[in-house]
Amino acid sequence: MTTLRKQPTRTCAACRSKDGKWTLVRVVRLPNGAGVTLDPTGKRAGRGAYICTSEACLTLAFKKGGLARTLKCQVPGSLEAELRTHFAGLPPAPPDVPETTPE
Ligand SMILES: [Zn+2]
Repeated sequence: MTTLRKQPTRTCAACRSKDGKWTLVRVVRLPNGAGVTLDPTGKRAGRGAYICTSEACLTLAFKKGGLARTLKCQVPGSLEAELRTHFAGLPPAPPDVPETTPE
């Protein structure tokens, strides 16, 4: 039995692991040099990058420059704090939710 997974996958800019779009947060480089901002809706125009909603990936994305590399531009350090605040406000991930339907 094949289970179709329609959820789009995105690659984390820090750990490069692929995950469902909804477990990653989108950061977008706005057009026309308008800067880089958090995009909680995932709908803003611009070049996007994704980061797992984990402290480890957040730190890595900034410290190792994965985020800047993915966006191909400078990322303001203030964005790290903004993301951290955003993560803190997210509902906790439900433990062990099966991704596939039981047979
Ligand atoms: Zn990650």
